[in-house]
Amino acid sequence: MVSTFPNPFSVDLSRIRLSIRSLQPQLIEWRRRLHQQPELGFQEKLTAEFVSQKLQEWGIEHQTGIAQTGIVATIKGNKPNPESNPKSKIQNPKLPVLAIRADMDALPIQELNEVPYKSQYDGVMHACGHDGHTAIALGTAYYLQQHRQDFSGTVKMIFQPAEESPGGAKPMIEAGVLKNPDVDAIIGLHLWNNLPLGTVGVRSGALMAAVECFNCTILGKGGHGALPHQTVDSVVVAAQIVNALQTIVARNVNPIDSAVVTVGELHAGTKRNVIADTARMSATVRYFNPNFKAFFHQRVEQIIAGICQSQGAKYELDYWSLYPPVINDMKMAQLVRSVAEEVVETPLGIVPECQTMAAEDMSFFLEEVPGCYFFLGSANAEKDLAYPHHHPRFDFDETALGMGVEIFVRCVEKFFS
Ligand SMILES: [Zn+2]
Ligand SMILES: [Zn+2]
Repeated sequence: MVSTFPNPFSVDLSRIRLSIRSLQPQLIEWRRRLHQQPELGFQEKLTAEFVSQKLQEWGIEHQTGIAQTGIVATIKGNKPNPESNPKSKIQNPKLPVLAIRADMDALPIQELNEVPYKSQYDGVMHACGHDGHTAIALGTAYYLQQHRQDFSGTVKMIFQPAEESPGGAKPMIEAGVLKNPDVDAIIGLHLWNNLPLGTVGVRSGALMAAVECFNCTILGKGGHGALPHQTVDSVVVAAQIVNALQTIVARNVNPIDSAVVTVGELHAGTKRNVIADTARMSATVRYFNPNFKAFFHQRVEQIIAGICQSQGAKYELDYWSLYPPVINDMKMAQLVRSVAEEVVETPLGIVPECQTMAAEDMSFFLEEVPGCYFFLGSANAEKDLAYPHHHPRFDFDETALGMGVEIFVRCVEKFFS
């Protein structure tokens, strides 16, 4: 089979084994079905039913309803374990466990694509590719179940709800998905339209940023626009705060580290000749270095408090952490990279400079066990499949589905050998 995908990395499907290539029509069918019935976080009822029904059909042991709509499936390899020597003193040595995680939720976006598999629900769309992640995980589960003789450990497939917020990873961990049997390592992927089809973004260390948020209300004293001396102008105070917040990244963070403070909302005032009593802002903070945990909260509050105090204003601040940074383990990143090199054309197909300030709650799993999260290039501009994630015209090249399964399967075989 010859592929002629017009991108600089020309995808060579001969690197995908025949049995996985033959799964491609099903992968596309599952993905399109999921695409037509997108569900928001913690409402993935039909999605979970579909996943469970497939797993059941293939005889894969699994539990449903974890953290509301999550599913965990267990597939035990039966390749003879080189360590289970009958003369060994260790009785029933614990077999290694590798987890593979996929997220299942969609976004509150009205789809603008005119495709036969367009979302059937108004205002809800798989605009991030999680339909593809679920299809890839299903394909991987199916293949592994059929080829249990090829690996000697246990694979846990984690189908997670609500990645887009409020986050399903943490409640799944709290529900014990990494226990019994204990997971030794975890891998996961994101289809990535920032990279062309035929590439894999993988690196050790920080891949995606931590995300923290805050809302702040400046409490001034309103009055007449012509009589500012009788007031505390919340607009002037807020403007100084917005500016000063930028000095955290510019002057407090080592320039070698990357961070962002974005005030995305600022609301104040009702009329041009009225000094606003209050001003409200909301912001997002992003960084890679886990040592910054607590640092930004402290600096943001110092700046707000200092400026308010100097201007006679008061403030209310609500600051919270959403997701920690996605930090890949060096050995697991090497494993994924070596597998990816076998699947995509090397060396052009491997993209180590793939960090992004976007965030992912895969980070909670990676805080518990070593692992690797990676990007699977899925854009194909020639087919008009290159819109960014979360765009109402987002779609990806489905050739990436089979590549995802191939990479996961090879990671499993390599991890247990
Ligand atoms: Zn997303
Ligand atoms: Zn996503």
